Amino acid sequence: MKIAVYPGSFDPATYGHLDVIRRAAVSFDKVIVGVLHNSSKSPLFSVQERVNILEKATRDVPNVEVKPFEGLSVNLPRENHAQVIIRGLRAVTDFEYELQMAQTNRVLAPDVDTVFLTTSLEYAYLSSTILKEVAHFGGDLSKFAPAEITDAVIEKIRLTADKQISYCHIERTVTEIENKECIYYEAAE
Ligand code: ADP
Repeated sequence: MKIAVYPGSFDPATYGHLDVIRRAAVSFDKVIVGVLHNSSKSPLFSVQERVNILEKATRDVPNVEVKPFEGLSVNLPRENHAQVIIRGLRAVTDFEYELQMAQTNRVLAPDVDTVFLTTSLEYAYLSSTILKEVAHFGGDLSKFAPAEITDAVIEKIRLTADKQISYCHIERTVTEIENKECIYYEAAE
C-alpha cells in the first residue's frame, strides 16, 4: 500500500492545499494530511479546528485522513508507515526552502522521499496568509477556499475582534490605542 503524508500548518486550508490533496489522493492509496501543532506560532485556528475544517473539506475523498501532529515532519511518515512526504510548490520562492527541508528530511529519514506537486496555475498566488489578510479587510474570499472554510475564517475574525472590544472597554490606555488594539472599540463608539 502506497501511503503519503502531507504535512503543513493549514491555517486555514485553501483551494491550493485542497488541490494538492486531491491530486495526491489519485496517485497514492492513502494520503494522511498532518496538521502541525506549533506552539511557537500563534495561528488563527487551533490545531483541532484546522483538523475539523480539513476533514469537512475532504469528506468526499475516501482515501484521505486528517490528523494533528507535533515536532519534526519526518515523524509523520514514520508514525503512519508512509514512504512519501508530499509538499506543494507555488513558485521559485518556495523552492529553496523546500529543497533544504527535503534534503534535511532525507538525512533524518533516508527511507522517506519527498514528492513535490506543482500548484495548479490558478492557485499559484494563494496562501493561508493572503486569505487571512483579505479577510481582515472584508474582501471577497470566494476564490480562495470553499464557503465552509471562508465562513469559519470570517466568524473567527469577528470573535477575535469582539474579544478586543471588551478588553479595550475594561482597560483602555493610551498605549493600547497607539497599538491599534482599540481600533475596534473606537469604531464601535
Ligand atoms: P507550512 O507552514 O508547512 O508551509 P502551509 O499550510 O503554508 O504549511 O503549506 C503546506 C504545504 O502546502 C506546503 O508544501 C506549501 O508549499 C503548500 N501550499 C501552500 N499553498 C499552496 C498553493 N496555493 N498551491 C500549492 N501548494 C501550496
